[in-house]
Amino acid sequence: MRTIPATGDAGSPADQATVRRLNLGLLMRSLSAGGPRSRARLADDTGLNKATVSSLVTELVDRGLVIEGNTQRSGVGRPGRTIEVNTGVVRCIGLELNVDYLAGVITDLTGRVLARRRLSLPMLELGPARAMGRVADLAAALVLDCGARPEQVETLHLSLPGLIDIDAGVLAYGPNLHWRQVDVVHTLMGRLGWTGTRIAVDNDANLGAMAEYASGPSAGSSNLLYLVGEIGVGAGMIVDGRIIRGATGFAGEVGHMPIGDPTVLCGCGRQGCWETAVGMNAVVDAVAGSGSGDGAGSGDGAGDGLRKGDMAARLNEIILRAEAADGRTLHALSETGRLLGVGASVLANLLDPEVIIFGGHFAALQKYIHEAVDTEMRSRVLGGAVMACRLEFSTLGFEAPALGAAHAGIDTLINDPTLVLVPG
Ligand SMILES: [Zn+2]
Repeated sequence: MRTIPATGDAGSPADQATVRRLNLGLLMRSLSAGGPRSRARLADDTGLNKATVSSLVTELVDRGLVIEGNTQRSGVGRPGRTIEVNTGVVRCIGLELNVDYLAGVITDLTGRVLARRRLSLPMLELGPARAMGRVADLAAALVLDCGARPEQVETLHLSLPGLIDIDAGVLAYGPNLHWRQVDVVHTLMGRLGWTGTRIAVDNDANLGAMAEYASGPSAGSSNLLYLVGEIGVGAGMIVDGRIIRGATGFAGEVGHMPIGDPTVLCGCGRQGCWETAVGMNAVVDAVAGSGSGDGAGSGDGAGDGLRKGDMAARLNEIILRAEAADGRTLHALSETGRLLGVGASVLANLLDPEVIIFGGHFAALQKYIHEAVDTEMRSRVLGGAVMACRLEFSTLGFEAPALGAAHAGIDTLINDPTLVLVPG
């Protein structure tokens, strides 16, 4: 059985380095969660002695992770200067690539967004190699937008819709992108040439869940389920404070639960998947009434404005029709809500979460689907009134996976501040 070395076991130089690294992380987490404080308060709050705190703070200042702030007088004794997270040096980039768009944010170490970009791109036409080139271009543009230098970018995390081998940095399979075995991390490293930047890739639903956990209205909920609503549908599952990845890292592919119309073909090649009933293309098909049912949204629906433009434009058109009380649109959205409730109740019965957060187009369509989701869940969740599960619609919008990608990078640095090198 493997165990994490206890902090009291510092006998050899290697152990001392480990202890120091863990304590640097403890201090950073405390500052990040609790805000600026004096060294004395930090010592009280972390249980470390004052001399240790002073030594650790000096190292964190040298690494550009914290700075001394205002002088704070607390009670008797010499006033001390507060220590706070340095927002001026380290930058973290979070990007999201989806079927028809690319989005990104660049943040400081507190998660404050310094610049954001979003552009429509037809990924199916571009293919993985050219798409990765556009991802690199977007990252470089974000750095310029906020007046930073590439050397300040410590982490870059990319969100992708599909099965991710995180350790290898590879998209194993993206059913709606039709990509397989794309070596994302090495490709981006080569394109960017930013030698000091840690590049990583993760699944969009997992990163959306991390964004909600870090900064959404239910931040800190240790049993949180996030459902990403795009062309594909997936779940990011935080259970007892940990993200659930499964044996191969592919957990959460709930969009392929067979609870849709069994005659409808999914992007994955199977039939009757949940995302063919509630994914964005299914919503477009239902509202347009084309009955194309090909799950790929390729029907041209002659003269139908819903087929034009990117997903955001199509979503706006659906909302305009719903606002105008178009009967077919309202009926289609109510049915989307009902089918969303069917699948969500399976997940609620399985995981008993505190909160299920609906993201992407589900959040944009909240007004028209909420009641149907709620009714369906009430009738299907066995715990009923006893189960604590709340239903929420994301306030982070379509930016959630990109924000989560930035937060994943920030978390990496806060947990191991030694990853940020002392400038020399
Ligand atoms: Zn499928």
